[in-house]
Amino acid sequence: MLYDLHCHSTASDGSLNPAELLSLAVDQHIDCLAITDHDTAAAHHTLSGQPLPVHLITGIELSCQWRGVNIHIVGLNFALNSDAITTAVENQQQQRQKRAETIAEKLAKLGLESPLEGALKFAGGGSIGRPHFARYMVDCGFVDDMKQAFKKYLGAGKPGDVKQLWPTVPEVTQWIRDAEGIPVLAHPAKYKLTYTKLGTLCDNFIEAGGQGIEVSSGLQPATVTQQITRLCEQKQLLASAGSDFHQPGQHWAQLGTYSPLPAHLKTVWQHF
Ligand code: AMP
Ligand code: MN
Ligand code: MN
Ligand code: MN
Repeated sequence: MLYDLHCHSTASDGSLNPAELLSLAVDQHIDCLAITDHDTAAAHHTLSGQPLPVHLITGIELSCQWRGVNIHIVGLNFALNSDAITTAVENQQQQRQKRAETIAEKLAKLGLESPLEGALKFAGGGSIGRPHFARYMVDCGFVDDMKQAFKKYLGAGKPGDVKQLWPTVPEVTQWIRDAEGIPVLAHPAKYKLTYTKLGTLCDNFIEAGGQGIEVSSGLQPATVTQQITRLCEQKQLLASAGSDFHQPGQHWAQLGTYSPLPAHLKTVWQHF
């Protein structure tokens, strides 16, 4: 069975719409897919009630903060129409809207014209985020590429990085549990935390009801897989895996592709 439990559609910052994503999943021989857009489950609402070519698990990637660090918690296999998920999405969308306005003000002061309108156009009605500002900045010629947009303006510590708005790890974890879903700590290696600090984050996450960890996130060095495997075992978490696919052409994050998961680990999908 091939699982991909982390990917994005046009409902957030992905380039394929939900139906296109499912077609690609079929092409990639994926048996079970979770679409995990940033702070929205809109793709799942779009697809619900139709016959689907792959087994689809409900998913979402919720933004939160822990000790000043922007953390992502993936929710899997939750009740789509639950009050908890509805509340979560409403809250997160309000925060995203507010944050987009703050980012836009800052970028306007730095000389970018109509940043909010520009980013909203790229978001196309989906969950607005920094990548939409980045695409607009590239489109305007304000920066050369997305990478530069993040490096100069949107990445950690830059003017467009506004993180104090997000809820805490316990809050988002509880939303997922209340919706009968499995909370999973997304891409643990991306936070640039020491192994000790990552352990403390896991402890806080578990206390709050957290159950899983992405042991494999796209293509990653074997040393990273080994470290996260150790953490997964130590903390008795369930292992998850996904590509974090956003768009074709990024070889390290292609749908259905991630570094091999050690076979002895207990997995989230054993609980689906
Ligand atoms: P947001 O959810 O609005 O905070 O934006 C975070 C998203 O931006 C991530 O999920 C990535 O898709 C994207 N991202 C983060 N860092 C970079 C980067 N350096 N270059 C391109 N995209 C990035
Ligand atoms: Mn993203
Ligand atoms: Mn993420
Ligand atoms: Mn993601």
